[in-house]
Amino acid sequence: MVRGGDYDGLVMVKERLIDASVQAVEEAGYDLTLRPRTLAECIGQEKVIEKIGIALTAAKQRGEPTEHILLHGPPGLGKTTLAHVIAHEMGAHLKTSSGPALTRPGDLMGILTNLQRGDVLFIDEVHRLGAVVEEFIYPAMEDFRVDFTVDSGMHAKTINIPLQPFTLVGATTRAGLITAPLRARFGIQQHLEFWSQGHLQQCLGRSARLLKIKCEEEALERLSYCSRGTPRIANRLLRRVRDYAQVHGDGVVTAALAEAALKMEEIDEMGLDQLDRSFLKTLITTYKGGPAGIEALAATLGEERDTLEDVVEPYLLQIGLVARTRQGRVATGAAYEHLGATAPDKSNYQEEKPGEEESMLF
Ligand code: ADP
Repeated sequence: MVRGGDYDGLVMVKERLIDASVQAVEEAGYDLTLRPRTLAECIGQEKVIEKIGIALTAAKQRGEPTEHILLHGPPGLGKTTLAHVIAHEMGAHLKTSSGPALTRPGDLMGILTNLQRGDVLFIDEVHRLGAVVEEFIYPAMEDFRVDFTVDSGMHAKTINIPLQPFTLVGATTRAGLITAPLRARFGIQQHLEFWSQGHLQQCLGRSARLLKIKCEEEALERLSYCSRGTPRIANRLLRRVRDYAQVHGDGVVTAALAEAALKMEEIDEMGLDQLDRSFLKTLITTYKGGPAGIEALAATLGEERDTLEDVVEPYLLQIGLVARTRQGRVATGAAYEHLGATAPDKSNYQEEKPGEEESMLF
């Protein structure tokens, strides 16, 4: 996953798959075209959209900014999009930044003091805010003021600076890594789920219309099954298939051309890419199906632990190819079946209880 951030220029570029940054920039351009601007235009996530819609309408009626909102869920499901939609619906400006970009309170100070009444501040990867910055943001969230210390030692002085009321929208792929005090300051907390095949097909249809791509409905259906429940992947596949259809066909995306393009991209019938399959293969061959620790898997695959935990694992867990146990990750029977391997008899591992996963150290 390639991510970049620049809060001064208020530019954020991100890419869902493990691709070159050049493609991330290309993607960012399309993102702007494809992102819905209003709640009514949003596809999927009905419950989240409904709850946020009520909160926005109520806040608008009271003439107040919306409460702070925390959005959590795997990458590419629509957290950034929702932040844009919230700002648009509230008729407010959106300022964006990210946890790793805000290393010192001073970084945040400039952003906060420049916010106008009702503005939306979006902080991506909010779980990666440093402890000092986090302490600094608490009074800003709670009382719309910042306590800034100037000088040090004997001459140290704390200056209280009032802020305009604003809404902080925090996004994270790891809700479990957010500290309890920070989490408690978000009045609205919503989890974004992987999208259903139907919603992905709808999203693909909308994107095809916006990008003026001629597509057979059957091709969109095929792509929706291969999008790992993620609209960002669906849109990315659509663009790859469009290129393929332009070069190998007459530009119209037919089911057969979609199939051929997916094959070229090495995406299988479950939507798994090369890294997903390497993860499963390593678990099955090197670690005999597991249990294996995430650090060990990352080292064997030569990948970042974060990439495996944020990008690869959530979907494999969701579709039941991997299970998390007290001892580590385990390949399920379905994973063996998918890779055409024979599963050994493993009936002695203990399933992890819900809620334990983030606190476990593998
Ligand atoms: P995240 O911030 O969770 O990583 P994004 O908000 O960047 O994900 O969403 C990825 C892409 O998915 C967007 O560029 C947009 O095209 C599409 N998308 C996200 N949410 C929606 C939605 N509700 N309706 C239609 N398309 C969406």
